[in-house]
Amino acid sequence: MKVTIIGAGIIGVTSAYYLNKQGFDVEVIERQQGPALETSFANAGMLTPSMSDPWNSPGIFWSLLRNIGRAESGFLLRLKAVPSLIGWGLKFLAHSNRRKYLNNMHVSSDLSCYSLQLLKELRDELSIDYDGICTGSLKIFRNPKSMAKYAKLARELGQHGMRFQILTPEEVLEIDPSLEAISDELCGGIHYPDDEAGNAHKFSVELANVAAQNGVKFFYDETVEKIVRNGKLIDKIVTSRCERVSDIYVICAGSFSALFGGDIGFDIPVRPAKGYSLSVSMNGWNKGPKMPIVDDDFHGAITPLGSVLRIAGTAELTGFDDRLTKERLDNLYSFLEEIYPDFAKSIDRSAVREWSGFRPMTVDGVPIIGKTPINNLFLNTGHGPLGWTMSVGSAKMLADVVCGAETALKESNYSIERT
Ligand SMILES: Cc1cc2nc3c(=O)[nH]c(=O)nc-3n(C[C@H](O)[C@H](O)[C@H](O)COP(=O)(O)OP(=O)(O)OC[C@H]3O[C@@H](n4cnc5c(N)ncnc54)[C@H](O)[C@@H]3O)c2cc1C
Repeated sequence: MKVTIIGAGIIGVTSAYYLNKQGFDVEVIERQQGPALETSFANAGMLTPSMSDPWNSPGIFWSLLRNIGRAESGFLLRLKAVPSLIGWGLKFLAHSNRRKYLNNMHVSSDLSCYSLQLLKELRDELSIDYDGICTGSLKIFRNPKSMAKYAKLARELGQHGMRFQILTPEEVLEIDPSLEAISDELCGGIHYPDDEAGNAHKFSVELANVAAQNGVKFFYDETVEKIVRNGKLIDKIVTSRCERVSDIYVICAGSFSALFGGDIGFDIPVRPAKGYSLSVSMNGWNKGPKMPIVDDDFHGAITPLGSVLRIAGTAELTGFDDRLTKERLDNLYSFLEEIYPDFAKSIDRSAVREWSGFRPMTVDGVPIIGKTPINNLFLNTGHGPLGWTMSVGSAKMLADVVCGAETALKESNYSIERT
């Protein structure tokens, strides 16, 4: 049976790998020249079930209102994006009540933990090199109120088995001495020992190579322009090169998945939240972090990925505007300066790779995986700020749903029907 996947980001590539393993004849259509060149390209690299708390936490409405138009804020809503967000935005806000928020957090965390478990099996089996580190992640705090909030969330996640350790400022330094310069400012931290990190782009390229060796066909530089529906079935897709006919179709187009809504006759409730990153060479600097350092005050993270330091974060609801805005980039430079002042002063900005990507956000922070009202159309999309973390588990779940096998997690929690 033939499966056609739209999109070769981290989600499309992992989906192709698992569907091929289940015995399907898989092809992947990707508009870029290779795998993972859009949102999966230069994300923060964190594999962090610890960050499963949805962004629409209680109080998000007032926080968004306060930040309208404030270029320096961590989470920015641009007025021009409001019309495209109306229906979606109301549901996003409706999910911010405490009961839904906690439930969504656990559903995401279950998938994230499952995903990391499968990732471990995959790397043992395939020996893929993706600059992976398994030293955990470290959340740092300057503000006791913010620390208390995350300590409470850590306890909540801890009830489902997540390990964490609440740290004094001295203990923060023991876990990661690179933070010495700012130790006086910290009121503490939380270490999540089971979190990991790695380069999502490198992983996607390596896994795509393995999948191609196993028989998956990747068609790059080819854009899917139309999905042709006929009643309860997709007949074909029309691309910039040809028409393609398959038995089964899977949309893995990240934030762009929603653009197929008109063709398929229902909304895929995924909207873009733009984020930025800087990739700075660490050559010659050996005092960097040992693990991802997450700072909620700045809505950002700093991750060591091989010889590169990745500084990433901030969120902006601004539609598909992909311009690199100076103020948003400056936020990340300031963030780096706050954490590693000496290193920040030493870098040559012209050698820094500045980047932005669109996190595919759902209304409840949980991805959409599985069946649709169309019999031969499936979705694996909407992974928001945790697509790398959830990728392997989501792909295995999708493959299980497509071939009718029992899924490890409750299928209905991730289905489009819940949205
Ligand atoms: C700043 C930032 C930091 C992040 N940090 C982390 C992190 O630390 N950990 C984590 O887990 N997640 C993180 N994320 C989120 C993560 O990067 C995303 O959830 C993930 O990359 C989404 O993967 P995807 O494959 O769904 O989408 P994409 O990577 O965007 O892939 C979709 C693919 O579909 C293709 N496509 C779209 N439309 C078409 C079409 N019509 N025809 C053909 N091809 C098409 C695109 O070219 C693209 O390659 C971060 C995101 C950002 C922006």
